[in-house]
Amino acid sequence: MNRLDRTNHFQVLILGGGTAGITVAAQLQRKRPKVQIGIVEPSTKHYYQPLWTLSGAGVFPKEQSERDESAFIPRDATWVRESVQDILPGENAIFTREGTRITYDFLIVALGIQIDWDLIPGLRQGLGSQQICSNYSYQHVDYTWECIRGFSGGNALFTMPNTAVKCGGAPQKIMYLADDAMRKRGVRAKANIIYATAQPFLFAIEKYRTTLEQVVARKKIDVRLRHNLRAIDPEKKTVELDRIDIGDTVTLPFDLLHVTPPMSSPDVIKASPLANASGWVEVDPFTLQSPKFPNVFGVGDCSGLPTSKTGAAIRKQAPVVVANLISALESKPLEAKYDGYTSCPIVTGYGRLVLAEFDYEGTPRETFPIDQSKERLSMYLLKAYALPKLFWHGMLRGLA
Ligand code: FAD
Repeated sequence: MNRLDRTNHFQVLILGGGTAGITVAAQLQRKRPKVQIGIVEPSTKHYYQPLWTLSGAGVFPKEQSERDESAFIPRDATWVRESVQDILPGENAIFTREGTRITYDFLIVALGIQIDWDLIPGLRQGLGSQQICSNYSYQHVDYTWECIRGFSGGNALFTMPNTAVKCGGAPQKIMYLADDAMRKRGVRAKANIIYATAQPFLFAIEKYRTTLEQVVARKKIDVRLRHNLRAIDPEKKTVELDRIDIGDTVTLPFDLLHVTPPMSSPDVIKASPLANASGWVEVDPFTLQSPKFPNVFGVGDCSGLPTSKTGAAIRKQAPVVVANLISALESKPLEAKYDGYTSCPIVTGYGRLVLAEFDYEGTPRETFPIDQSKERLSMYLLKAYALPKLFWHGMLRGLA
């Protein structure tokens, strides 16, 4: 790992050292070892977030999802342990919150998604107490399991907001696991499990939706479509839900509340010339290049791609960004194309999983020669044991 030198200039500057930033850096260093790479990332820890679903259900301790960031910064790259404050693509420069100006020839924006906890009154104050939990916070993910384990009856409410989120299936996965855990403990008959989603459907892709509709029917889950969480009263243990189609608001008491919070593009991107009308990094959906600034690429959750935001999607985006970046470095046409591939391993209980995989068209793009819309133990084992290894030893090393 190198240190920032006085010139503060990199051939390739990567903003964000999460899943996308490190995967791109690792692949680029393998393919072009001489390219000088800088990575701006303030966090000293790296997280495998997909594991949080299983940590919230008591399967793995959350610590298993955490490693030192330093172990994944490619050997010859420079880690700038600062936060991006301003992106100035017109000047090929960025400023950090710590006051450093860094210039670049090429920029990769991989800043992830921002969780807007404060958009729900009562959420930040209540989270981690009063049976209000969320798998979207490393700090609080073990409280989810505490709530499920200690649940003795009443309304167990699981929400999905009216914004883009990372891993659109995650709000449901924890609900199915909670249902299973309650059955095992013999308290399910006393529970009223409610799924309040702002979406008009359970899942966007019909092939997998059909299975999930059977799952909620089998589990007797009360699905409330087009219901958006507006506010929480942690003291009274009630929520306000907007009924989007009717145009009114209803109040509901809860005994367990799992919140998937609203999310958006990081503010630093929203405020930059790289943003599209919704605030995400504007990129060509196939080449992942910025249409306004050809020396800029976007990858991962922060990019304005019309597909579901997942680590699995990044596994297919990263080689495209790297190939096109190398072409751009060598003044060749950009030929690599991303087809919108994404995947969502939807856990439907302990030992059961539907592995959804699809592209921009919503066409299933399944890896295995079996019907992946069926709930399977083999796919659950893949998620729990094989995919974490693929992440730490394959993706983040530029090998998968
Ligand atoms: P991240 O990995 O979040 O990285 C963004 C990085 O940017 C972070 O390291 C952050 O510190 C850094 N950063 C932020 N702001 C700044 C700044 N101002 N300056 C510098 N650096 C900054 N995906 C799947 O494929 N399958 C699953 O089963 C799955 N399940 C999930 C379950 C849960 C509960 C969650 C939370 C996520 C899940 N995901 C899943 C989604 C997956 O984890 C994300 O899509 C993926 O991590 C996105 O990678 P990213 O690099 O875009 O963002």
